[in-house]
Amino acid sequence: MIIIKFGGTSVEDAKAISNAVEIISRQRSRQPVVVVSAIAGATNTLVSAARLALEGDLGKATAELNALLERHVLILENVVDDRPTVQQLILEFRRRFDEIKNLCQAIAVLGELTPRSLDAIASVGERLSSLIIARAMAERKLPAELVDARSFMVTDDHFTRAAPLVRPTGEKARTLLLPHVNTGKIIVTQGYIGATAAGVTTTLGRGGSDFSASIIGAALAAEEIQIWTDVDGVMTADPRIAPAAKKLKVISFREASELAYFGAKVLHPSTILPAVEKNIPVIVLNSRRPLATGTRIVADPPRSNAAVKSIASKGGITVINIQSSRMLMAYGFLSSIFSIFQKHQTAVDLVSTSEVAVSLTIDNPSRLEQIVADLKEVAEVTALDKKAIVCVVGEQMRSTSGVADRVFRALNDINVTMISQGASEINMSLVIDEADVTESVRRLHREFFEPVPELEIFEAIEE
Ligand code: ADP
Ligand code: ASP
Ligand code: MG
Repeated sequence: MIIIKFGGTSVEDAKAISNAVEIISRQRSRQPVVVVSAIAGATNTLVSAARLALEGDLGKATAELNALLERHVLILENVVDDRPTVQQLILEFRRRFDEIKNLCQAIAVLGELTPRSLDAIASVGERLSSLIIARAMAERKLPAELVDARSFMVTDDHFTRAAPLVRPTGEKARTLLLPHVNTGKIIVTQGYIGATAAGVTTTLGRGGSDFSASIIGAALAAEEIQIWTDVDGVMTADPRIAPAAKKLKVISFREASELAYFGAKVLHPSTILPAVEKNIPVIVLNSRRPLATGTRIVADPPRSNAAVKSIASKGGITVINIQSSRMLMAYGFLSSIFSIFQKHQTAVDLVSTSEVAVSLTIDNPSRLEQIVADLKEVAEVTALDKKAIVCVVGEQMRSTSGVADRVFRALNDINVTMISQGASEINMSLVIDEADVTESVRRLHREFFEPVPELEIFEAIEE
């Protein structure tokens, strides 16, 4: 059995959905379970409508929702021929949008948008796209079975970033999905959404469909997890930033995790863990070029002689510098600092320490004020925002000298606030100004990947 996950652009219109159905159809004998995202932009629109309602702009919220409804109707009319089915689904879509509009009205009246209502609204994108795709498959005589992810994806109640509960999700997924798979059905379900044990709708956080795919893959012991997206695979950098980026044929789970964690949007940062636990290869593929080979992410790829394999970056970083003479030769100081971050439920990304100072970075500044206030009780503190992390990743960095030298030479006059050689020794991260990201990534890309090194791991993109 395999998991086939389609991202938003891979189901964005009628043509994309036809391609997706073709991709499923070609792999029918491999017992696919299909996981789908909302059509491109739908989740953004839904979230934006909820926010507009909160600001009291119901007119604009309704206009955005109507346009989104029309997009879904148009797609439906173009992928399903059977008129009665189309009419019935249009009515169903209208009902769902009426529900959202009612919710928006309540938000506007109360002047309150809870994370719980936001999830109820945001989940609609996947619920609609999955309906269309299951119908499009049925139209091509594929035995599609639509299963609502909320019936098996059990999560905690951290609305807008809910964590799946592995054991109940695994048990329910096996009980609900396997009988269909075993009778030759092709399951279609939603990524990104789930429900608490009490049945309240949740979402796994933006970009979470990749994570859904790997959780389901691990639960069902899939042979492979395919992530179909709008680029040829995992590349040497985000091609939107470095247009010369090359596709990587194969990378390790560890490299993929680091890249995703440090901002490579092609995979949600949590995607790799369930795959690692069950040792299931993850393949990233381009739905616009379905016959290309994509990138294989596996436990132990063949050793390559490229020290650096890819560059990731992530903006919206805040650096916190903490200085105290009490730190000198003292124990317990770091733990008192970290307990403050724990108290405010804020994850720390990079840390670097000297005898009297600690610098660290966070990417969620929502509790920054309270954190700084608490830290000031024990040390001098400064916070710098609008920073970014750029990160070079590669397994072979461990045994290659001179990488740091090349990184610094390439960045030359760009101001580096902080450096961290990851404890895993497969990444090196630098904190720079957000405004310098594009230039830094391009320079690093030129240094390590242009012209294309004569290495077996790269594959030039044929256009
Ligand atoms: P989907 O909707 O299919 O999940 P995403 O937009 O979430 O797609 O992720 C794909 C995007 O990730 C690409 O269009 C690309 O701009 C971006 N990206 C960032 N870093 C990388 C990378 N190293 N390799 C490939 N794509 C990357
Ligand atoms: N539709 C969701 C989002 O836009 C989840 C995903 O696409 O992975 O964040
Ligand atoms: Mg994505």
